[in-house]
Amino acid sequence: MKEASFYEKINGNFVKCNLCSHRCPRIAVSKRGICAVRENQNGTLYSLVYGKVIAANVDPIEKKPLYHFLPGSSSYSIGTMGCNFRCGNCQNYDISQTPKEGNMVLGQDVSPEEIVSEAKRSKCASIAYTYSEPTIFFEFAYDTAKLARKAGIKNVFVTNGYITQEALREIAPYLDAANRQNCGARLEPVLESIKLYKTLGIWTEITTLIIPSLNDSEKELRKIAEFIKDLGEETPWHVSQFYPLYKLTELPITSLAALRRAREIGKEAGLRHVYLGNVPGEGENTYCHRCDGLLIERYGYRITKNKIADSVCPYCGAEIDGFWRE
Ligand code: SF4
Repeated sequence: MKEASFYEKINGNFVKCNLCSHRCPRIAVSKRGICAVRENQNGTLYSLVYGKVIAANVDPIEKKPLYHFLPGSSSYSIGTMGCNFRCGNCQNYDISQTPKEGNMVLGQDVSPEEIVSEAKRSKCASIAYTYSEPTIFFEFAYDTAKLARKAGIKNVFVTNGYITQEALREIAPYLDAANRQNCGARLEPVLESIKLYKTLGIWTEITTLIIPSLNDSEKELRKIAEFIKDLGEETPWHVSQFYPLYKLTELPITSLAALRRAREIGKEAGLRHVYLGNVPGEGENTYCHRCDGLLIERYGYRITKNKIADSVCPYCGAEIDGFWRE
């Protein structure tokens, strides 16, 4: 347990949390915010998940997914319990939602130093803060990211983007890349934070889970594609296949045709790189935006060919957007 950052004491021992865009306005003594992992104890807000790691794995960076950031490298991936969203399609609902349902906050006690040394030992080029929402374990991510930076290890957020601008600005000097995953929430703060990620020089890729009947209309997809285009045509967009789980078991799997159409919409909007996700063998390769030459060939999370040399296309010399070397 650690005293939280980004909160204010208000009258009567209430506190207001400013870590994510919910900005929980009045957390009473012995109560928690919407994420259920920040608790007011006698007028002081505490993070209940500091150092409580519920999942730690060595993953390919492609699994985040980040396709233009150190391809073929490994990322030491950690997460704690809790989340500030309640997405019906959550793949990790057992860790993200449990604190809300049963008050339980589980996890193995691990220090930032141990995370960094484990990342080094496993020869990981980066640490990914993922599985649940890294914003809600901000203090732990921040301390770890600072140490990682010193050790020459990159830091990656896999996030819903619902962080406040002040919190993002604080951790930004230590963040190298982010994948923003679409989900249900007020859109405005999310869009603002994605813009800020880009402005702060953090390499950003965006993933949209295409959920049949919820967000697969031409209109919706065009809106997302155009927003990404406004961020910059170089921003990779991953359109991912949905599998029925958690609260959305009634819906079908996204068809391949719908994913292909989403990719076309992205291309029509002018995006340089649009990938299909969760369908190994299709839409995973990176092509040069200028000459269309094959640059990186993938199968699943594996790189089978990488022809990018020094950020440049070997066929036409175009500069390829991304972060290619450690
Ligand atoms: S991080 Fe948690 S407590 Fe803080 S504003 Fe967000 S949901 Fe509320």
